[in-house]
Amino acid sequence: MNAKNFDFDLIIIGAGYGGFDAAKHAAENGLKVAIIESRDMGGTCVNRGCVPSKALLAASGRVREMAAAKHLSSFGIHAAPVRFERQKIANHANKLVANIKNSLTKTLERLGVTILRGIGRLEGHQQVGLREISGLDRILSCRDVIIATGSDPFVPPGIEVDGRTVFTSDEAINLEWLPRWIAIIGSGYIGLEFADIYTALGCEVTMIEALERAMPTFDSDITKIAARNLIDGRDIDSRAGVLASKITPGCPVKIELAETKSRDHLEILEVDAVLVATGRVPCSKGLNLDSMSIETNRGFVPIDENMRVLVQDKPCPNLWAVGDVTGKLMLAHTAAAQGTIAVENILGNHKKIDYRSIPAATFTHPEISSVGLTEPDAKELASKEGFELGSVRSYFKANSKALAELESDGIMKLLYRKDNGEVLGAHIYGLHAADLIQEVANAIFRRQNVIDLASEVHTHPTLSEVVEVAYKQASQQMRKATEKK
Ligand SMILES: Cc1cc2nc3c(=O)[nH]c(=O)nc-3n(C[C@H](O)[C@H](O)[C@H](O)COP(=O)(O)OP(=O)(O)OC[C@H]3O[C@@H](n4cnc5c(N)ncnc54)[C@H](O)[C@@H]3O)c2cc1C
Repeated sequence: MNAKNFDFDLIIIGAGYGGFDAAKHAAENGLKVAIIESRDMGGTCVNRGCVPSKALLAASGRVREMAAAKHLSSFGIHAAPVRFERQKIANHANKLVANIKNSLTKTLERLGVTILRGIGRLEGHQQVGLREISGLDRILSCRDVIIATGSDPFVPPGIEVDGRTVFTSDEAINLEWLPRWIAIIGSGYIGLEFADIYTALGCEVTMIEALERAMPTFDSDITKIAARNLIDGRDIDSRAGVLASKITPGCPVKIELAETKSRDHLEILEVDAVLVATGRVPCSKGLNLDSMSIETNRGFVPIDENMRVLVQDKPCPNLWAVGDVTGKLMLAHTAAAQGTIAVENILGNHKKIDYRSIPAATFTHPEISSVGLTEPDAKELASKEGFELGSVRSYFKANSKALAELESDGIMKLLYRKDNGEVLGAHIYGLHAADLIQEVANAIFRRQNVIDLASEVHTHPTLSEVVEVAYKQASQQMRKATEKK
């Protein structure tokens, strides 16, 4: 690669997980790299997302476990009433954030990546503008550019956020106070994880979901079982088909509720706090995308399977985008994988991404996870390609390890092709579901079939046998179908 006329081989705008992995991989492969960050190194995941939320979930999960007197007494354990210090739980999350942010920054520095602080933008082909924190503006040239600017919380119209009584996950993550009664708007994975944290720490939760059922983004069979524990079994009043049409911060916070379909006014709720968890929007506004004639899809930057930015459906030379700003499976590991793939393509090694094998997890207690196709998508594929869809269920209540843990509430649903046994998707609710899904993700990545998978031996007694049982059931179904023919 001849880079002598450029300031850098590669400039990455945004140092979240996507930008970080791209920068690391590019520098490890000898490219001269600069990364521009306007806020915090590590982006959403490290500072306001995965990392601090999992720290809060770990601590509050312990509180939940130790306060579950009935559960503990089944083991013959009688613990003293549980006490916790909110500030120390918050400190645990803050320390972890500082630790990971520091090590990630050091990794890039050690690899010789130039870290530039300020706001980046495109300035035409192979040019990036940088507005430094001091106000200084300069133009840098580079062979390739990766846009990795991520996303921000979406706040629907009518909702006023003050950051103290009405806030998004950006503020909730600081656990500055514990409202006696909090309304959570949205029952996606962020809403559910915070409901888990707040209820474990003694808060009363009202969960408001505009769509027809709570947890609308999850498999409907998994939801039926998961919601019995995660919502109905806790201090949560869940309302679906209800829109929070107006929210006014204050003491109390006022929420105007309307029926989603008719928009008829229902009531005014007065609560101590509101967490708005209604999804995320791409960070693409200040990027000067017009300078490259890029048209976004509701702010998301269009890309192809190699991470090239598309302009009027055609790949734009030397311009790439990765992570949440592309709107594909908005998760940290997707962003990281896309970052590495973009760099592989920059290096001339043609690589594509396999979205079907990327798993997703919700770290509630117990967890929910999924990979591959949803059942409606699998049905659609089956009718399009003319195969029969197979579906089996495996239950945690038949698993020795889950029973030993007294944690047998759980189910796995496996979707596969009945013609060749290929695994198409899996949905799990139960203890350590986030770890269990990886095995199925690997099988989907390799396009493996249930007959081969059923002969793989799993350790006994482990939760992984839940997956083994699903493979075995599916393989038996296939065998029976062949015998009938
Ligand atoms: C509460 C919460 C919990 C989550 N939990 C999980 C989880 O458990 N697992 C998981 O996989 N995902 C989780 N996510 C999602 C995950 O955080 C994101 O998918 C991931 O951070 C996306 O990475 P990214 O690199 O695309 O963008 P980001 O992490 O958003 O990083 C983008 C960076 O670009 C910077 N930037 C933006 N514009 C500019 C500009 N013009 N110039 C310079 N810099 C700019 C931003 O400041 C930011 O630092 C969670 C998210 C939230 C909010």
